[in-house]
Amino acid sequence: MIIILKHGATDEQIDHVVERIEAMGLKPHLSKGTYRTVIGVIGDEEKIQTAPLTAIPGVEDAMPVMPAYKLASREAHPQPSVVEIGSGKATTKIGGGHFGMIAGPCAIESAERLDEIAGEIKAAGANVLRGGAYKPRTSPYSFQGLGEEGLKILREVGDKHGMPVVTEAIDPRHVELIAEYTDMIQLGARNMQNFVLLTEVGMTKKPVLLKRGMAATIKDLLMSAEYVIANGTTEVVLCERGVKGFDNSCRNMLDIAAVPQVQLMSHLPIIVDPSHATGRPELIPACALAAAACGADGVHIEVHNCPEDAMSDGPQALLPAQYKEVAAQIRKVAEAVGKTF
Ligand code: PEP
Ligand code: MN
Repeated sequence: MIIILKHGATDEQIDHVVERIEAMGLKPHLSKGTYRTVIGVIGDEEKIQTAPLTAIPGVEDAMPVMPAYKLASREAHPQPSVVEIGSGKATTKIGGGHFGMIAGPCAIESAERLDEIAGEIKAAGANVLRGGAYKPRTSPYSFQGLGEEGLKILREVGDKHGMPVVTEAIDPRHVELIAEYTDMIQLGARNMQNFVLLTEVGMTKKPVLLKRGMAATIKDLLMSAEYVIANGTTEVVLCERGVKGFDNSCRNMLDIAAVPQVQLMSHLPIIVDPSHATGRPELIPACALAAAACGADGVHIEVHNCPEDAMSDGPQALLPAQYKEVAAQIRKVAEAVGKTF
């Protein structure tokens, strides 16, 4: 940590800052210039990062040397992480050169429907099956998900098709139950900073799919990943799914630069969800290819076999045939940039 003192800070103020640093068990190194005094702090940076240093009289600024998202940072873990989802034959790796193809309907609606969709996307190359059993809906009158019945269906269909499964948790009270049925737990955009939920999900030690909040910075996303990791789960896959923009031609605004930016800052895999980012089937293939081309570790796409009948997010769903076409293209692009499946 580097502490910069205000121009004209008095000797008493400087002494006081030094005392505070020493009281935390850290070593201050004073450097007095003509105009400014700077204090370098040596020791466990964690001890000082949460202290309100700029509230001490005479302090102008405090600059951390280590990022606050230490466990999620590249510094702490220079090699990219590989997240393993599922077990046995139905294991999928994401990150470190392994490309994840997560696909499925927005919500689990019935066993027959999920089974049909799963068969088609698996044949097209999907390697993780998604489906919501608890849906975060803007309206309380919209379909809220099948709950435990949906979890059972997801598990059965995933096992039948040899695919690991991921579903979203929206309530800490459901986390234990969800962990029993699934291989990976999704934390949605609306809950990226629900710290109670992050803590509860982290404690399950299950792999986590953490989506970026619609108004969250990349640092916010990494701080949320830090919450999950600090509570026990080491396997976190991040997901860029579009942020709020000013243009309403798309559901959200896909921040494609977030992919290489996250890769500079963190060892965690990052995938892209062009479905929620654009909300429009005609834009999803191009954005999925852009994600693969820019080095994303996977894509997350919603697929439904009868979008006009879907109980959630029908207007943005790709048909299985459309998914098949784009999946083949994604594979080529991802392989061209060194990914394996
Ligand atoms: C979803 O995956 O269906 C979902 C609700 O996503 P998001 O949290 O990104 O809106
Ligand atoms: Mn959805």
